[in-house]
Amino acid sequence: MSTRVGPLDVDALRARLDRATAAAAVAGVDALLISPGSDLRYLIGAGGSSYERLTCLVLPVGGTPVLVVPKLEQPGYAAIPTDDLGVEVAAWVDGEDPYALVKRALKGTDRIAVSDMTAALHTLALRDAIGGEQVLAGPVLRELRMRKDAAEIEGLRKAGAAIDRVHARIGEWLKVGRTEAEVGADIAAAILAEGHEEVAFVVVGSGPNGASPHHALSDRVIGAGEVVVVDIGGPVAEGYNSDSTRTYVLGEPKDADVAETYAVLQAAQRAAVDAVRPGVTCEEVDAVAREVIADAGFGEYFVHRTGHGIGLDVHEEPYIVAGNDLPLEPGMAFSVEPGIYLPGRWGARIEDIVVATETGVESFNNRPHELVVLPA
Ligand code: ZN
Ligand code: ZN
Ligand code: ZN
Repeated sequence: MSTRVGPLDVDALRARLDRATAAAAVAGVDALLISPGSDLRYLIGAGGSSYERLTCLVLPVGGTPVLVVPKLEQPGYAAIPTDDLGVEVAAWVDGEDPYALVKRALKGTDRIAVSDMTAALHTLALRDAIGGEQVLAGPVLRELRMRKDAAEIEGLRKAGAAIDRVHARIGEWLKVGRTEAEVGADIAAAILAEGHEEVAFVVVGSGPNGASPHHALSDRVIGAGEVVVVDIGGPVAEGYNSDSTRTYVLGEPKDADVAETYAVLQAAQRAAVDAVRPGVTCEEVDAVAREVIADAGFGEYFVHRTGHGIGLDVHEEPYIVAGNDLPLEPGMAFSVEPGIYLPGRWGARIEDIVVATETGVESFNNRPHELVVLPA
């Protein structure tokens, strides 16, 4: 994981720290305990890494932030302007009790919010050391993280353009007679070459494998006339992720129902993107896509939610799913990715990352939405 501060200046980070503790106060918690990962990167510009030794940013409401960090991992945070951010660093060495250092940094201990992805190893030790009630920090931080600021939107825009460049080149690698894994390895190299810092995932779902939404790669040899789902993404240097799916076919589709079915999917994805604007709820966007697909008789083959929020994590709030009545606000970025999956036969998905703007929607992915026909 990267430790750069990226495009963020100290003022922006300090404002995030202040907003985090303000949100914690509203939620009635005494402090946030932030573990390495995307929450930490959001707040101080470095995500760090989590091992058996505790690293934890302690954010007491009304107190001084303290970064508890193993001395041997301290160099990884050297780029963080802790002094300017008003963050004290409490470095510890083996033999010392880091959980006691966390407790010392706290002002109150009645209710402590812990990062969602904190390892149980640390969560249970913190509970023993601190006492009181522990709750998840995710619901507090999502209030900040799901409303992207201009720098974050720029990061997502850059990621979207980079993955579009990879999709534009898929024909170089996706060929009859190659395996999904071979094609996937070439795509992974291109994801890096086109400006990503890491490869987060590569899905090449050919033929019946395309009917499994979370299929990744296999040694299946891709045949002529097969439909192939390609879903790819990863973070750019700023930490923001791309995630885009296009569906390809190698020559004339061998199944007679491909064109008609794909047209339904394309209409559903278009309608859902067009529905995005401030005030529309997440579940309404999901319903728009679902209705088009259900009306055409494919409802039972659209087996997942329409989308997920995206940012420093590939999957984060807000989720575009039935039951989520959260109204969209400018700055909320998420995928619109309906699919139709015909078990044992083939599948298709179209996925763009979009952001709600003051007046409507901006798409970060701008490749054509048609089924892409490559030479057989
Ligand atoms: Zn998924
Ligand atoms: Zn995807
Ligand atoms: Zn996605």
